[in-house]
Amino acid sequence: MTKNFIRFIAGAVCPSCKEIDKIAITSDDQTIYCLNCDFKEHKPVESATNQSKPDEPQVFNIEDFRPKKS
Ligand SMILES: [Zn+2]
Repeated sequence: MTKNFIRFIAGAVCPSCKEIDKIAITSDDQTIYCLNCDFKEHKPVESATNQSKPDEPQVFNIEDFRPKKS
């Protein structure tokens, strides 16, 4: 008996072969892969939640951290 079942991502389209409902995710939630072709991609879990661009460094405006002199 095996617990190694496949978890599909409903409605997901493979960017490689364009097949729908062929994208599955590994049991550790770290990698998505296609059952129809060789597509495999690391799943950016953290960036998906905070909606920020993962490739760009966070830029803060220094002025916001200074005490305001009025
Ligand atoms: Zn595919």
